[in-house]
Amino acid sequence: MAVPTTFLVALMALLSFQSPVYGIRQQAGAELGGGGSSGSGSGGGLSAYPALRFRDDQTFKILQLTDLHYGEDLRLDAKSDQFQRDMIAAEQPDLVVFSGDMVSGWVCVPSSERPLPVDCGPGWFERRWRQLIAPVHAAGVPYAITLGNHDAEADLSRREIVDLDVRTGGLLSLTRQGPPQATGASNYYLDVHGPPGSDRPAARIWLLDSMNRFCPPLMFGWGCVAQDTLAWLNSTISGLPPVPSLAFVHIPIPQFKEAWYDAPTVGRKEEDVACSVRDTGLFNLAREVGLTAIYSGHDHNNDYAGLLHGIRLAYGRKSGYGGYGPPPGWLRGARVIQLRLGEDPAQSTTWIRQADGSVAVQEPSGQPKGMRQLECHSDEYGQQGPTDEQQQQQQQQQQPLKVEDQ
Ligand SMILES: [Zn+2]
Repeated sequence: MAVPTTFLVALMALLSFQSPVYGIRQQAGAELGGGGSSGSGSGGGLSAYPALRFRDDQTFKILQLTDLHYGEDLRLDAKSDQFQRDMIAAEQPDLVVFSGDMVSGWVCVPSSERPLPVDCGPGWFERRWRQLIAPVHAAGVPYAITLGNHDAEADLSRREIVDLDVRTGGLLSLTRQGPPQATGASNYYLDVHGPPGSDRPAARIWLLDSMNRFCPPLMFGWGCVAQDTLAWLNSTISGLPPVPSLAFVHIPIPQFKEAWYDAPTVGRKEEDVACSVRDTGLFNLAREVGLTAIYSGHDHNNDYAGLLHGIRLAYGRKSGYGGYGPPPGWLRGARVIQLRLGEDPAQSTTWIRQADGSVAVQEPSGQPKGMRQLECHSDEYGQQGPTDEQQQQQQQQQQPLKVEDQ
């Protein structure tokens, strides 16, 4: 992308971030031109960032940040800030995807079991949200979100959080409000256009909302991408030019279990898969419509990727300093997905950039893979993980991961 455009976008984004007024966003978009929000959609949106585009070398790089869990401790949040800055600086992504649990919404909900942080009060969630998106703004990188199960546990609904992101994110937020007929809020897609000179979509990224608890009519277990959302996806995709497509969803679908036991995998599984309690059909629909890679978060202690019936199912790496995990001996990290023009997303190059700057070599998981997990794990892991100091002690006692410096 030409430097002047990037600079202008970053400048306008900064202005918009500091003065989050819709008028500024629209005016800036009109001035920028560049196709505005063409090639992305759901229920509407005002984003006017120039079209996402493959680079001249025919690649497009996504940085997946997952489970940052802002809000639990300001010292930890500062570490997550630095982590984001380091990841963005190291990878120079074309797009950052926050794949859920950006903020631990429960933190300021009164509880007899823990004291409330001193910064609770009106506007707490928005303050934490602005902190969340400050690093991408400082870097001038566009981003998109899909909501997790903890984001809407404070005083904002899922739709209100999407509105908040659209309002505070300025030009760099590509987040959209999902259509009314789809359960949840963060249901939309982004098209990635071909290299400069091309005005056609060349890849498509779906952001899908897996809700919080329960997958109706079941009243237990984790949430799911609802069938009405899948109906919207199916009807929408049939009206779009077919291009290589991938998706991000916070809660893994049940096939993540099968991928571990029945498919070749790389990476590790250190906790039961806490998948959607009911299979609403995303996997089968993905096979039908050619959506060939699904990336999730949610399970902080899993980072494996597998290829099941032609579909890549992959976890991100736990990114944030809030929340439980990652397991002792692991570093926090971010999954990087490098799309290549025309390539099947199931075959995209992917790696994990770790907090110390190294790149994790995700080796074949091998056998044995332990006793088969039959059901999706449905309990809440401890909301409060070990303290940072405990974590450091644990990590010092562990052998370091095999890493390859870059
Ligand atoms: Zn989480």
